[in-house]
Amino acid sequence: MPFVTAKTQQSAYDVIVVGSGAAGGQSAYTLCMDGAKVLMLEAGRKYSPDTETPMFQTPDLAPLAGTGTPEKPFGFYDATVDGGWQVPGEPYTRASEEDAGRFEWWRARMLGGRTNHWGRISLRNGPYDFKPYSRDGLGQDWPIGYEDIAPYYDKVELLIGVYGSNEGLENTPNSPPGCLLPPPKPLVSDLLVAQRAKRLGIPVIPGHRAVLTQPLDYRRSPARLHPGNATAQRILAEDMRKRAACLWATPCGRGCAIRANYQSTTVHLPPALRTGNLDIRTDAMVYEVTLGRDGRASGVSFVDRLSGKHLHVKARVVILAASACETVRILLNSNSARFAVGLANSSGKLGRYLMDTVGSSVSGQVPLLESLPPLNEDAADGHQLYVPWWLYQEQHAGKLGFARGYHIEFGGGKRMPGFGTAAGIEWLTGGSYGAKFKQDVRRYYGSFVDFDGRGEMIPNDQSYCEIDPQVKDKWGIPVLRFHWQWSEHELKQAAHMQKTFVDIIEAMGGKPRDPPQSDGAKAIAPGGSIIHEVGGAIMGSDPKSSVTNPWCQTWDVENLFVTDGAVFASNADKNPTLTIMALAWRAADHILERMRRKEL
Ligand SMILES: Cc1cc2nc3c(=O)[nH]c(=O)nc-3n(C[C@H](O)[C@H](O)[C@H](O)COP(=O)(O)OP(=O)(O)OC[C@H]3O[C@@H](n4cnc5c(N)ncnc54)[C@H](O)[C@@H]3O)c2cc1C
Ligand code: SF4
Repeated sequence: MPFVTAKTQQSAYDVIVVGSGAAGGQSAYTLCMDGAKVLMLEAGRKYSPDTETPMFQTPDLAPLAGTGTPEKPFGFYDATVDGGWQVPGEPYTRASEEDAGRFEWWRARMLGGRTNHWGRISLRNGPYDFKPYSRDGLGQDWPIGYEDIAPYYDKVELLIGVYGSNEGLENTPNSPPGCLLPPPKPLVSDLLVAQRAKRLGIPVIPGHRAVLTQPLDYRRSPARLHPGNATAQRILAEDMRKRAACLWATPCGRGCAIRANYQSTTVHLPPALRTGNLDIRTDAMVYEVTLGRDGRASGVSFVDRLSGKHLHVKARVVILAASACETVRILLNSNSARFAVGLANSSGKLGRYLMDTVGSSVSGQVPLLESLPPLNEDAADGHQLYVPWWLYQEQHAGKLGFARGYHIEFGGGKRMPGFGTAAGIEWLTGGSYGAKFKQDVRRYYGSFVDFDGRGEMIPNDQSYCEIDPQVKDKWGIPVLRFHWQWSEHELKQAAHMQKTFVDIIEAMGGKPRDPPQSDGAKAIAPGGSIIHEVGGAIMGSDPKSSVTNPWCQTWDVENLFVTDGAVFASNADKNPTLTIMALAWRAADHILERMRRKEL
């Protein structure tokens, strides 16, 4: 029972999962492998990575040589076949259009959500990241600690395949033996960054990305992941064997037809479908969780985007995994006599504590990397190495003037040239033409390095989303209005990033394209633009100040769960998706256990 329509869909299920990205994919996978009958409702269209992935197309085959456009900001071949910064007919509004109060919202509308093209950087949160308030008195602690989620990080790494290394650095957890795949070789430019950053006391270590540097261990991992469940082990072993190791040649953002990286559509959904326990209905835009007389969720209402019909389906348990803000929107739009201002909102915290990642970037040019012999450096498509936050002690001693840290993602090398490869080098050439320009391009191509900071934002009362009282989307569903404000901590952190990046470039003997921006308000990327939005239905240990309990279960409605980033109580510098999946697996195990005991 795979993809269903109104005719083939069952009238009721054990569990409804709303959304098919990292959170929905993981939730459905865990539940189906253990025998639960699941209906996945996905607003976007069906998408087949096997046939729709433009892996080997060269830029010259695409309009405008494949460059980004407003409709396809990540390039013509990007895997996001539907969605982006704007979704036609599905607006959202902002309380402010000023730079400081601006929030940008990226949405994918397709099976697998954003996982078809995400950066695949997969870092574990560390022990400090779950108890930030206890360390510096700001924000709030999670009701769980690292030790609660560590076994689930292990499981997710084993299942999806993550390369990396164990370095034993502060708040940068090691994985148990066998969990990580070996990291890829660094590029020449990576090695130079590492050498010069180390001279500044900045550690550079292998990155962690959900890319298979070698085939998965299909003989041992299935038994570690599904002990005592022979069917699940067999299905997973067969599926793992079908995933090839990386070719080191094609941009991951277009998706991966050989299944060498993680996408929900290539890793979670195929084995879940093989169990026979998963039905997927695409083009199903959920707008309300319905409440029974018993105070439990009875099911969800959705619009069939193809027919425009409004429909309802029932289940014992409802899981919202539509991405943080969309999940909040569904809950805020689910009003009833008992919950007049949003379902599961007795705390009044629904929509509150919206967070993104602090971002700031600097690029530069390094003469030592000029005129190197031509090489294929497509490599692992980024993040061979990275810099974890290294100033925990100085920060804790109050020496930095801001409260939370950042990691550094960097890149360089000679990627497949495309539109714009040789553009914008006048700052080096002074503007050259003809033969001299060609000479200059050969000289400078591959000598550029880019640094991107990814830092922790502290949740605040001014950053939240609510229902816009006037605006509705084309289906008549009220839309979100965003409020946004950075605190001094984030602004100072962004200015610190700028100085660090310029220091590293200069230590490489290079020069930054622009001087470091010391004004944090100018250095920081707009809210939401790093696409790590989390919070809005945070977990906690007190129903008065949080929306869910430590199991991602809403305090108010016992059979209603939230498994996406909405439950994050803080947003560590580490990219959020590995944590989303670990939490989703943990919540699904909890649901299975409670269903077995007939408590749900
Ligand atoms: C360019 C880019 C790079 C990124 N790089 C990284 C990275 O390197 N590391 C990292 O950790 N994170 C990264 N992210 C973020 C990452 O993609 C998200 O954290 C992750 O996908 C969140 O998973 P999710 O399941 O909550 O949401 P999504 O993956 O967005 O999936 C949500 C799904 O729900 C569906 N949906 C929405 N509303 C409804 C509704 N009302 N009814 C039914 N279905 C609905 C959507 O269509 C979508 O398919 C990146 C994101 C982008 C865009
Ligand atoms: S670089 Fe590797 S993981 Fe990425 S798309 Fe190509 S083959 Fe797949």
